[in-house]
Amino acid sequence: MDLKGIYPMTSFFSQPNCDRCGAFLTSRIMSRFNTDCLCPECEEEERMHPDYAKAEAAEITAVRRGDYNFPGIGWPDKDGRVS
Ligand SMILES: [Zn+2]
Repeated sequence: MDLKGIYPMTSFFSQPNCDRCGAFLTSRIMSRFNTDCLCPECEEEERMHPDYAKAEAAEITAVRRGDYNFPGIGWPDKDGRVS
């Protein structure tokens, strides 16, 4: 395993603020779109995104093929779309 794969998880459990809005994290959730560490508000915003199902499906496909370091399809921003 290379360090690039380990780093996001290390940061995920220790960082104090949300990667997306910067809010102090009282609980943390990993983004489905990328490796961002999200607060509950940003996670909720992701769930409302029209490409959420696509991001979730891509992650499941990656894990099925044994890719546990799948970086996600990328967060297109709340008003953007995944191409
Ligand atoms: Zn946030």
